[in-house]
Amino acid sequence: MTARPIDGKATAARLRGEIARAVAQAPAAPGLAVVLVGEDPASAVYVRNKGAATREVGMRSIEHKLPATATQDELLALVARLNGDPEVDGILVQLPLPRQIDAQAVIAAIDPAKDVDGFHVVNAGRLATGAEALVPCTPRGCMILLREAGATLSGAEAVVLGRSNIVGKPIAQLLLQADCTVTIAHSRTRDLPGVCRRADILVAAVGRAEMVRGDWIKPGAIVIDVGINRVPTPDGKGRLVGDVAYAEAAAVAGAITPVPGGVGPMTIACLLENTLTAARRRRGWK
Ligand code: NDP
Repeated sequence: MTARPIDGKATAARLRGEIARAVAQAPAAPGLAVVLVGEDPASAVYVRNKGAATREVGMRSIEHKLPATATQDELLALVARLNGDPEVDGILVQLPLPRQIDAQAVIAAIDPAKDVDGFHVVNAGRLATGAEALVPCTPRGCMILLREAGATLSGAEAVVLGRSNIVGKPIAQLLLQADCTVTIAHSRTRDLPGVCRRADILVAAVGRAEMVRGDWIKPGAIVIDVGINRVPTPDGKGRLVGDVAYAEAAAVAGAITPVPGGVGPMTIACLLENTLTAARRRRGWK
């Protein structure tokens, strides 16, 4: 079998188009505030891309840059200001933060109604209890791609590799809500290949380059590869690979997301969707 590739780039472009149309009809342009602390080059690229994507759908991008030496109190004061600003619908503090700042304390300070990353414990709790929540962007993007791939979710065996608060656990919650039978595997799981082979739906979010091999995959399974890992190449530039050995897996799976071009583009599209959702709920728009 040769797996169908699941095109995250095209799906994300379609979603961004739908968001742009909704924004054009909204009473005002939603505002997304992105806070970058320090000079981490990867974070700077993410923030730039998020700003560009925000403007492209007609929303306002409000960018705040603090020096790497910023204190926790300074960052908390900025978050408090953004919480109180009626023109700001979403607040995203780019992670990781410099070591003098407690990321959990900063996330906890964000108004849950503006928490477009969906990392606040209130949103995590709402998701876990099936209440209306702002759902973390990457997990939400994975669910859209599963539906795009035509996955039958109800009753399916789903295995999530990885149990982080921002990816693994929320994906598991969403799969459970969609009536999958969910197993969450991690670094202490025994017989990882055997657990993965049970999966009709396999989501890999471990951050280990090409760890999931072709013989870990059930024939016909749908594979969502969240991992983004840079591996060395002879020219020194490196290339991006996922947590799944793509060519091997594609020979067995029914459908699979590529890296790059799979889950990655969905994350920003879902961030924009969350910002629109936050604006609608907070401002009482239909
Ligand atoms: P974390 O490092 O926070 O979590 C990794 C998880 O994988 C942990 O639960 C860990 O287990 C588990 N794990 C690590 N090594 C192994 C192993 N050898 N066997 C089994 N389980 C293992 O990572 P994130 O969840 O933040 O991210 C995961 C990947 O997804 C990364 O590659 C990241 O770059 C990517 N990512 C991609 C995004 C996108 O937009 N596409 C967005 C966010 C992340 P334990 O808990 O036991 O330590």
